[in-house]
Amino acid sequence: MNESSRNVIGYIGVGSNSGDPVRNCLEALNRLGACDAIEVLRRSSLYRTEPVGLKDQPWFINAAAEIRTALGARDLLSVLQAIEERMGRIRSVKGGPRTIDLDLLLYGGQVIEEDALCVPHPQMHKRRFVLVPLCEVASFVIHPVYGISIRGLLERLADKSAVIPLDAGAATR
Ligand code: AMP
Repeated sequence: MNESSRNVIGYIGVGSNSGDPVRNCLEALNRLGACDAIEVLRRSSLYRTEPVGLKDQPWFINAAAEIRTALGARDLLSVLQAIEERMGRIRSVKGGPRTIDLDLLLYGGQVIEEDALCVPHPQMHKRRFVLVPLCEVASFVIHPVYGISIRGLLERLADKSAVIPLDAGAATR
């Protein structure tokens, strides 16, 4: 199959916890949709999420998007990395604050294990901040390694870190 005949559904994780994280996430999604050969079909709500791993940093904003793309997985990753760079991704500490983080979570039903690209994203099934937004747009999609839906992974999840819809509590303000 040549590049132009591909038409793959993929899922992208978006996160930010520095500068204006809500704006950064929305801007990254806009830039993604503006790329040739990428169509953003749906995006999840935005969530405020507790840092996992390195705790002593600001909470994140996270979201997930469903896309349709004519790009191969490696080219898609390059596009994600170019958006991160152009948005001035700054991250001095591994696992620490970042302007924008774009992860390729799922690419069709493909399993890719290379030095620079692992799909499904190797941490996605362990992270509430990934699975909660992803479940909004891909609840019945099957994880191609575990053979379990995204909803099923979320139900089995050990991670209990906080993932709160951004507008939760709006009624009480
Ligand atoms: P991070 O700093 O956590 O965003 O990781 C970036 C590094 O992870 C880059 O070197 C990528 O090549 C690599 N990587 C491997 N698989 C993926 C994936 N599915 N999505 C995004 N980055 C990936």
